[in-house]
Amino acid sequence: MSESINFIETSVPSLYGTNCFSNSVMRERLPKSIYKEILAVQAGEKELSLEVAEVVAAAMRDWALEKGATHYTHWFHPLTGLTAEKHDSFIAPTSDGKVLMEFSGKELIKGEPDASSFPSGGLRATFEARGYTAWDVTSPAFLKQDPTGTTLCIPTAFFSYYGHALDKKVPLLRSMNALNKQAIRILRALGNTTAKQVITTVGPEQEYFLVDKKYFDERPDLMLTGRTVFGSMPAKGQELEDHYFGAIKERVAMFMRELNTELWKVGVAAKTQHNEVAPNQFEIAPIFSTTNVAVDSNQLVMETIKKVARRHGMEALLHEKPFAGVNGSGKHNNWSMSTDDGINLLDPGENPESNARFLLFTAAVVEAVDRYALLLRSSAATAGNDHRLGANEAPPAIISVFFGGPLTEIFDSIADGKPVSKSTGMERIKLGVTSLPTLPKDVSDRNRTSPFAFTGNKFEFRMVGSSQSIATPNTYLNTAVAQVLSEFADKLEKASDKNAAIEAIVKESYAKHRRVVFNGNGYSEEWVKEAERRGLPNVRATVDVLPVLVQPEIIALFETHQILTKEEIESRYHIYLERYSKQINIEAGVMISMVRRSIFPGVSAYAGALARDAASLAAIGAVSAPQEKKAKRIAELLNEINEDTDKLEKVLTEAQETEDAFIQAKAYREKVVSQMGVLRGKVDALEKIVDKKAWPFPGYEELLFTL
Ligand code: ADP
Ligand code: MG
Repeated sequence: MSESINFIETSVPSLYGTNCFSNSVMRERLPKSIYKEILAVQAGEKELSLEVAEVVAAAMRDWALEKGATHYTHWFHPLTGLTAEKHDSFIAPTSDGKVLMEFSGKELIKGEPDASSFPSGGLRATFEARGYTAWDVTSPAFLKQDPTGTTLCIPTAFFSYYGHALDKKVPLLRSMNALNKQAIRILRALGNTTAKQVITTVGPEQEYFLVDKKYFDERPDLMLTGRTVFGSMPAKGQELEDHYFGAIKERVAMFMRELNTELWKVGVAAKTQHNEVAPNQFEIAPIFSTTNVAVDSNQLVMETIKKVARRHGMEALLHEKPFAGVNGSGKHNNWSMSTDDGINLLDPGENPESNARFLLFTAAVVEAVDRYALLLRSSAATAGNDHRLGANEAPPAIISVFFGGPLTEIFDSIADGKPVSKSTGMERIKLGVTSLPTLPKDVSDRNRTSPFAFTGNKFEFRMVGSSQSIATPNTYLNTAVAQVLSEFADKLEKASDKNAAIEAIVKESYAKHRRVVFNGNGYSEEWVKEAERRGLPNVRATVDVLPVLVQPEIIALFETHQILTKEEIESRYHIYLERYSKQINIEAGVMISMVRRSIFPGVSAYAGALARDAASLAAIGAVSAPQEKKAKRIAELLNEINEDTDKLEKVLTEAQETEDAFIQAKAYREKVVSQMGVLRGKVDALEKIVDKKAWPFPGYEELLFTL
C-alpha cells in the first residue's frame, strides 16, 4: 500500500494539479507571446506553428524532468474504448557516449505509433500500418507518476496516413466544432456579439464495484470478462437499501482518499464520492469541464480507480453488470452548452432575453433527442450495457426526456398557444417580454428513472455504460444538437421579428417532438406500452440498434457536419459489431471452461461423497438417508448442466463460423446469449444446494459483502 498524504502538511490547493501541465503552468513557464499563441490555438483562432511547438516542448520537457520523468508518450483513444500509450525516453546520445534529455516541437505535436494492431474496421489495410497521433492542445498534458516511474502523457488524436479518424477524439473534437458553429449562429441572430465560442461541458458520474482481490483472483469470469457469468444471490441483496449513501467503510475510505489524491495531482477535480445502491458499489464524480477534457479525465478516472484499488488489495469492476440480482453500473453524462464568457445556454436565467435563449436551446435538445433517439441509444450499446438497458433494471432502452412539471407546462403552453397556470409564475408566455420564473432545480431533479433528464441547467444522459468512453455519446449528442440548431439558425437569420420567430420555432419544434417528453416512472411496464403508443423506439439489443449508424440519414448527418465520413462511420459500425461478438464469445468460452474444468469435477466428487455416505448410513440400517436424495438431485442437475454446456458449445461454434459481421452478432445475441442464460439458471440452482466448501469459486457473499 502506498503512503497516505497528510493534508495538514500538504494542503489540497498546493497538491492540486502538480502533475498537470495546465494553462497556469504554461503561463508561468512560457514567454508571454508564446502563451498568447497557445491560448489562440486553444480557442481555435490559430493553427499551431512549429516554432511555438518548439518553445512549448522545451518548457514541457524541463517541467517533466524536474518532476522525475524519464519518458513521454502520446496518449490516445483508439476504438477499443480504452487508452493507448507507447513510451519513448527523452534520451538523445551525444558523440562522446553520453546522453542529453531532449524533446522537440515535432515530437510534441506528432507521433507515429504502429497502428496495425488497433481496430480500424477496414480503414487501414494491414500493410499500411502507419498511424499518426497529433497533440490536442485543448487538453492538458500530465504526468503519470507511480513507483514504476514517471511518464509525461500528451493527449493526442489518432488518425491514419490518409487522414481517417482511427480514434474517439477526432470525431469528438469535430462535433464540438460543429456545435460551436451552429450555436454561435443562433447567438448572433439573437444579437449576442460578445461570445466568441460555444463549448459543450460534461461532468460524468462514474459508478464502479470493488471486490477483495483474493476473491477476484479465484474467479476466472471476473478476471477475463469483468463480470460474474455464474453466481446465485445470497440471502441478502440490496433490498434493505442500507448501502446507498451509507457510511463509507474504512478500507474503502482509504482507497478513496488515495484515489482523490492521485486525481487531484493530475488536475482532475474529483468532487463527490459515495456508496451506491448495490453492496460494494460506489460512485465518484468530478466537477464538469469542457467535453474533450472531461473525456480524457474520465479515462484517467477509470484507470486510476483500477490502479489504486490494486494498491489496496482490491479489484475495481467497471463492468455494467458484474453481478446478477443487484444494480448495475452506469455513467451519468451531465451535459450542457456554454459560451466562452460563461453563459450556460441551458440556464433559464432571469430576464426575458435569457429566457428566450433558454427556450430555443432547450427545444433544440428535445428535438435532437427525439429525432436521433436511436443514434443516441446506439452510443450506449455494448454487450455489457445490454444487461442494464431494457432489462429488469433501469434505465429502459426507450429514450425519453424528463422535464418536470413546471417546464413541461411552459413548453406545452407555448406549443398550444395557451396561457399557463399561475403556479408557473406567468400569465401568458410572450417571449421577449415576460420573464420565466426561476425554475426550482430540486423539483426538476427528482426523477431518477429517465434516460435523459433535465436537471435545472443541464441534461443528464443516464444510459451510458460505466466502462465506456464517454467520447462517443457526446460526439453523437453534439452532432444531433448541431443539426437542429442549424435548422433553427436558418429560420432565425431570415426573420425580421426575432421574438416572433423564436416563439414560432419553439412552438413548431415542441409540438412535433414533445412525444419524447415523459415525466413519469421510466421503469414501469405502463411506460413501455405508452412509449409504443407514442411511436418511440425501444431497442433492447446492441446488435439491433447498431445498424442505425449506417442509415443514409445518419451518414448524411455526420457528413454534413464533417464529423465522420461514410467510410469512417462504416468502419465503426463494423468494429462495434465485432466487439460485441468477441465479448460474448469470451463470456461463453469462460462459462464452458468453468463448468467443465471446475464445477463439474468438483461437484461430481461432492455428489459421490454424498452417495458413499448414504451407502454407509444404509449399511448401519438408516432408511432413505437425505444424502441419497441430495446426491440424486445433484446428479440430475449435473446431467442437465452437462447437456446445456454441450448445447452452448454447439451454438457458439456456429456463431464463430458465421461470416457476415451483422449476422454473426445476431447469432451471438439470439443463440449464444440465450443458451448462456439457460446454463446459468441451472448452475446457480446447483450452487444453492452444494456444500459451500465443495463449490470451486468464491460466491456472492464473499464478493459483495466483504471489504
Ligand atoms: P446529481 O444530483 O446527479 O448527483 P450533481 O449536482 O452532483 O448531480 O452534479 C453531477 C455532475 O454534473 C457533476 O459532475 C457536476 O459537475 C456536473 N455539472 C454541473 N453543472 C454542469 C454543466 N453546466 N455542464 C455539465 N455538467 C455539469
Ligand atoms: Mg446524477
